[in-house]
Amino acid sequence: MQAKVAIDLALDRLFTYEVPEALTKKLAVGQLLSVPFGHRTARGFVLELHDDEKTEYRLKRVSSIIDEVPFFSPALLELVKKIAAYSASPLESVLRAALPASVLKKNARARELYYVEAVSGAKPVSLTARQRWLYDQIVRLGGGWMSRLCAELKTTAATVKELSGKGLVTVELRAKRRDPLRAGRILPTRALELNGEQASALAAIMDGSSRSPVLLRGITGSGKTEVYLQAIARILEEGRGAIVMVPEISLTPQTVQRFAGRFGGRVAVLHSALSDGERYDEWHRIRSGEARVVVGPRSAVFAPVSDLGLIVVDEEHEGCYKQEECPRYHARDVAVLRGAIEGARVVLGSATPSLESWMNVKRGKYRLSRMDSRAGAGTLPHISIVEMRDGAIYSKELLEAVALRLDRGEQTVLFLNRRGYSRSVSCACGFTLCCPQCDVPYTYHKADSCLRCHICGKWEMVPRSCPECAAKAFSYEGIGTQRAEAALKKCFPRASILRMDADSTSRKRSHDDILGAFRRREADILLGTQMIAKGLDFPNVTLVGVLNADSSLNMADFRAEERTFQLLSQVSGRAGRSELPGEVFIQTRDGGARAIRFAARGNFEEFAESELAGRKECFLPPFCHLAAITVRSKDPLLAENWAVMYAKSLMAYAGTVKGLTVGEAVPGALAKADGWYRWQIVLRSGANSAILGAWRWISAERPPPGAVRAVIDIDAMNLV
Ligand code: ADP
Ligand code: ZN
Repeated sequence: MQAKVAIDLALDRLFTYEVPEALTKKLAVGQLLSVPFGHRTARGFVLELHDDEKTEYRLKRVSSIIDEVPFFSPALLELVKKIAAYSASPLESVLRAALPASVLKKNARARELYYVEAVSGAKPVSLTARQRWLYDQIVRLGGGWMSRLCAELKTTAATVKELSGKGLVTVELRAKRRDPLRAGRILPTRALELNGEQASALAAIMDGSSRSPVLLRGITGSGKTEVYLQAIARILEEGRGAIVMVPEISLTPQTVQRFAGRFGGRVAVLHSALSDGERYDEWHRIRSGEARVVVGPRSAVFAPVSDLGLIVVDEEHEGCYKQEECPRYHARDVAVLRGAIEGARVVLGSATPSLESWMNVKRGKYRLSRMDSRAGAGTLPHISIVEMRDGAIYSKELLEAVALRLDRGEQTVLFLNRRGYSRSVSCACGFTLCCPQCDVPYTYHKADSCLRCHICGKWEMVPRSCPECAAKAFSYEGIGTQRAEAALKKCFPRASILRMDADSTSRKRSHDDILGAFRRREADILLGTQMIAKGLDFPNVTLVGVLNADSSLNMADFRAEERTFQLLSQVSGRAGRSELPGEVFIQTRDGGARAIRFAARGNFEEFAESELAGRKECFLPPFCHLAAITVRSKDPLLAENWAVMYAKSLMAYAGTVKGLTVGEAVPGALAKADGWYRWQIVLRSGANSAILGAWRWISAERPPPGAVRAVIDIDAMNLV
């Protein structure tokens, strides 16, 4: 027998080994092995087993099996291979992304502690009064961890071991779970009675006649989570397992508790805040089948749940599901693929679905289920758009509304829309300079004061005056949170204000601390960036203000409108979640903008229709696949030359392929990030295979020298 093994080195090729006679019975696909590699030993996963084939040279032999229980089921291996092929990533990189690093660490193991148990029916022996008392206590408690017993009974390990010497108790090492949930302290919850909308959503998910994914479009507070919980309960009754993915930022203790409260010890959590030991234990609890419900961020899509029955992707439109480093997979798409491979149901939930998913509903690939009313207490807030004419940070209307909340002892959330680093240029009248061909805001390049389209590569100089209103000055900068906080303090010197942005959270106070304090009503006003928009539920908040709604519109990105719509809808959902009615003010310089108008009316479908029409016209996703090739080097000339040459060659190649469009090479908006000069080339095609073909061709034809790196991001979400 021979084995094809992926060695953990990202070499993107499999190595064949001979399997020694003694191992043939035990060896299975998906196991971790130890194999000789060069002059050392390496570890690798068995991907294939087959009968002996002739080889030119003598094969080396597998040294040993590190763990007999496979790390990857055959279904997971199939998934991994498909992702590697689709995203043009080395197979090993996908294997590695599919496992928490702490599981593969050489010294990773379960934590073992001494456990004491009374021996039942032990023969009476002569004991001191003290020993007799201790033995009785251990019998009464039914045993326990040595350290706990010693602390509780005020004794020492040596004394307990005396009892063990007399055969009255056993002391042995046992694995003790490092429990991130501190399970004891979670209050159990019971299923709520579903309302009509929820019941039909659940019925659609559990429908026996179709396995196509369900897009659950439900407004904030419509009770999507309760639907997930009840779908999972049914799946568990069928003896199958479930995965729930949530964006890392909303993976708060409250979120986890909702699942643990319903399913207790059957829940495992995987996320980056766990210690290595906790993650190791959680992953092993999933693999062993002890935990059947996994809650985690995008990497949870690979959790080794056997007999998988359901995958939930909450907030499916979130950009964080796309991994921005190799392997560049999109966890939502992986979920859909895994569901198809394993026959699991898939639910994508959001108040503002991505246009990709919406398009899949229209194409009949996904089924749609809608929930348009709030499930619990509270009504939808009243939303007003406030036009900002001057450069002020706060409008009179918003300040009056804040003052009213301070009087009533209610809370306010103020939201500052921070734009990405890729800046567009807009006039005070709200007009933004766009590429005439692609209708995408131009990106401003500070280095040469140029405007460039990051899709097709067209460029021009910044005009002297605004083509719309003839004003002379353009603005490149937004408002910062610190300035907004200072201005607010001036208006309300006695109000207590909490500020939350990347700065304030990286210093002493964490995200959770700040939100916790606000929840406990230790402050009147929470002022922050995007961070505060997601999934937070504060009953005492009755006012939400968006200070600069148009800011993210001016992001030079073809998804800018879509992202603005999502942000505004999410932020508005923060107000009025309890009996107290809510009010939302959206301040903008561009009240006519589509995303803002539709968000204020809470109308997703109208927005989607009008946005899709524009995307179709300009041949942008979801009407095509869009991939970005990034060429980078520490040498600016090398980067430029290779990028330009790549673009030229690819354009010539595209002339021979139907339906493949290649843009000019464009320098990154930040000319130099971390010492690397980046250039990008955008490829578009109706078929991803055409893009992959072009990439394989150029990689083989023009392999870059060592000082130049070229990578491709299939279905890119962020352009440089
Ligand atoms: P979403 O996930 O859609 O934002 P949630 O599941 O968080 O909504 O539900 C919002 C609120 O409504 C929660 O407080 C929840 O307990 C409550 N809720 C959900 N479903 C019901 C129901 N069927 N009956 C009563 N309250 C419900
Ligand atoms: Zn263009």
